[in-house]
Amino acid sequence: MTTTAVAYAAPSAKAPLEKTTVSRRAVGPHDVAIDIAFAGICHSDIHTVRDEWGEAHYPLTPGHEISGVVTAVGGSVASFAVGDRVGVGVMVDSCRQCDACADGEEQYCEQGMVGTYNDRGRDGDITQGGYSTAIVVDENYVLRIPDNLDLDVAAPLLCAGITVYSPLKHWGAGTGKRVAVIGLGGLGHMAVKFAAAMGAEVTVLSQSLSKKQDGLRMGATHYYATSDPETFPACHRSFDLIINTVSANLNLDTYLKLLARNGTLVEVGLPEHPMDVKAGSLINPRVSLAGSMIGGIAETQEMLDFAAQHGLASEIETIDAEQINEAYDRVVASDVRFRFVIDIDSLRN
Ligand code: NAP
Ligand code: ZN
Ligand code: ZN
Repeated sequence: MTTTAVAYAAPSAKAPLEKTTVSRRAVGPHDVAIDIAFAGICHSDIHTVRDEWGEAHYPLTPGHEISGVVTAVGGSVASFAVGDRVGVGVMVDSCRQCDACADGEEQYCEQGMVGTYNDRGRDGDITQGGYSTAIVVDENYVLRIPDNLDLDVAAPLLCAGITVYSPLKHWGAGTGKRVAVIGLGGLGHMAVKFAAAMGAEVTVLSQSLSKKQDGLRMGATHYYATSDPETFPACHRSFDLIINTVSANLNLDTYLKLLARNGTLVEVGLPEHPMDVKAGSLINPRVSLAGSMIGGIAETQEMLDFAAQHGLASEIETIDAEQINEAYDRVVASDVRFRFVIDIDSLRN
């Protein structure tokens, strides 16, 4: 039996999000039904609902940083039980057969992963995300939230956390590595915490020094304002790895000059418009420009367990659903410390 969840959705690209309902499929044999407690606001939600990436399907309920509690499980579900504390991130399905899926990198599924919202599910329906009271997800795409992580501060880990954890692991952030993080927002603040916990020496490159005390407290050793022209000569060729979390275009040539020989700049930010790079910025001293998208399911569980073990979580501002539109404007203005999280109980009253 399908059910109805209360939700917040964008009716069109230009309109504010408003209260509505979404339909949730009947709980199938492999499905987990979840009562959502909290949903983080990712900058990708804003790019999507404002149609900056194209292919937005309206009405559109965003939300892919979901935490909550299991309310029902299908007959074949072995890994979860009613009452479990769980999370759902950016994907809810993939083909499960291609090389990427077999390698546990379902985010790079060769058939295309199924996104938690604004994507076509395997049943043909458009998926609707976590700004809603409930969701039904195949058990293979559900994460377990460790007991010592509260559901509100855990929610942003499901996208912001894994999106920076995965490239930090892949490019070997750890003792002896000099890691710079561009942008101290939702992704950026988790990148600082994870890189520091992995043992790397961390530098923040932010537009101003306004969040310097926070960045240092999170584990950075150096903090620079990119609005200060002195920053670029001071950091010349001084990083092994740069994680760019910025949601807008940057002059990448300028940042590639901050990489030491064999260093890599990893793009995780997804600005609306293309960015230019001069070949000369790459060839000498043999630096790489790379990209990375979220992480696989097993790696997401590893990240949650790592966060719990190291006492790390997202730093949040909790809001009611009526404040979503105002929060979007604040995120775009870089005025968030460091993630907005919607208290989904505000949709239940
Ligand atoms: P966010 O909270 O808005 O953080 C972005 C940060 O970038 C801001 O806090 C700000 O940091 C900096 N920034 C913003 N505008 C800037 C500008 N014009 N010039 C220089 N710096 C600027 O966003 P988020 O949720 O972390 O997401 C960041 C980006 O990653 C988005 O494009 C999002 O779509 C993308 N994303 C990608 C993946 C993936 O799988 N690759 C996953 C999630 C999100 P300061 O104030 O410190 O300067
Ligand atoms: Zn996201
Ligand atoms: Zn696949």
